[in-house]
Amino acid sequence: MINDPTRSTQHSALSTPAVRVRIAPSPTGLPHIGTFRTFLFNWLFARQKGGAFVIRIEDTDRARLIPGAIEALTEAVRWFGLDWDEGPEVGGPYGPYLQSERLPTYHEQVERLVRDGRAYRCYCTPERLDALRAEQQARKEPPGYDRLCRDLTDIERARRDAAGEPSVVRFAVPLDGSTTFQDLIHGDVTWENRVLDDFVILKSDGYPTYHLAHLVDDHVMEITHVLRGDEWISSTPRHMLLYEALGWVPPIFAHLPAILGPDRKKLSKRHGPTGIAAFQEAGYLPEALLNYLGLCGWSPGTDQEIFSLKELVEQFSLERVNQTGAIFDHAKLDWFNGVYIRAMGPQELAVRLRPFLGETAGMLDDDALMAISGLFQDRLKTLGEARELMDFFFVDRLEYQAAMLIQKGMTVAQTIEGLRRSAVLAAEIASFDPEALESAYRVLTDELGLKPLQLFMSIRVASTGMTATPPLFATMAVLGRERCLRRLTAAVERLSGSM
Ligand code: GLU
Repeated sequence: MINDPTRSTQHSALSTPAVRVRIAPSPTGLPHIGTFRTFLFNWLFARQKGGAFVIRIEDTDRARLIPGAIEALTEAVRWFGLDWDEGPEVGGPYGPYLQSERLPTYHEQVERLVRDGRAYRCYCTPERLDALRAEQQARKEPPGYDRLCRDLTDIERARRDAAGEPSVVRFAVPLDGSTTFQDLIHGDVTWENRVLDDFVILKSDGYPTYHLAHLVDDHVMEITHVLRGDEWISSTPRHMLLYEALGWVPPIFAHLPAILGPDRKKLSKRHGPTGIAAFQEAGYLPEALLNYLGLCGWSPGTDQEIFSLKELVEQFSLERVNQTGAIFDHAKLDWFNGVYIRAMGPQELAVRLRPFLGETAGMLDDDALMAISGLFQDRLKTLGEARELMDFFFVDRLEYQAAMLIQKGMTVAQTIEGLRRSAVLAAEIASFDPEALESAYRVLTDELGLKPLQLFMSIRVASTGMTATPPLFATMAVLGRERCLRRLTAAVERLSGSM
């Protein structure tokens, strides 16, 4: 009866219960790119189907819990502008949504499996299991439990329980046959049962393992589709055996491709930041990051790259999710972020930049900040870059080497004279707007017998301290007459002093 095919029928496409999906993060780390790609695909699927999206917290690995991880997750969800229908903070009819608060539900099912002979108590000590693993390694055998406790007599079990011996509960995997499940992305997946060992379903501390807990919850929470990372594919045959033993119909599975670095290895810190907080701090826009994540493993089948969330909801389909790993390319993400930055209105850009600019920018009103940020809009890849690029607007005194003022083919005296005349011009010019400045400074360049590239670079360094800035005259116009005059004069003094 173990492999009775009639009992392992999955939800068929014909029966259409309301879609219910979930994301089931373990609070053992801070939210990262991978969590959110899976989050997003589940969310898009739920919204498209008018279904429910559940967050369930899988906190059964008590030793690895990280304080604040759940709050960090919900904060990040809100930062992305996404939501959830049931779960932490919002509750819901299938709660509690924290596995540590659901222990009786798991115990009930574990007891049932033991009663039915589908699971058994195992008293092997960690020392015995370590030794077993070492022997298996030495013999180059795959690691796995040798089922020593599977056939203990009831009397023997009663004796060991009475003696208070610690034990775990293991699932009794069928010794032969094979297990198949259908995956919406990978098709039929089959495993030989003999390669699966008798895995633990209840630990000695009374907490269930992931294998049991997530499955019981998926069932009692009436989850219809499990969209999760493909690192769980090899565990799914075990889950199918559990569903069968419990007499439950499994949900539909879709295992999502892993996110890889450009070297096609699993994405990790070696490839750059992976935590959502790092992207937030660096000044990535949630809408750009979401857009990019939407394309990490899914393709629309057209050339379209820029998607609003609404468009993603409309177009997303599991059929177009790739089987193979999705490359996470920071340079490509920068491109997306730049596109979204350029699409912003001036006021919005100023508002969103402000938190990245530190205290010095705090004195500026919105109009002033808007004028400055407008200069940089075309060249910003992240909001976080702005502070360094814009710094010359916020400091009193520029730090640069006087030698930077002198351009190729110019003497020191020529540079001083050029800057002195530039200062005079800045003081006298009627209108300090970019067009007027440009034509006046071109005339001055001719008068001085210099090339525009020479004089303009000297003025740029004098007024910004940098050699690469937004267009010079637009920048000067925003800096304003007084500040330009002061800086040009200071440059003359510095050079004269260095002679
Ligand atoms: N708690 C598991 C994880 O952190 C969930 C896997 C699943 O979705 O079944 O990845």
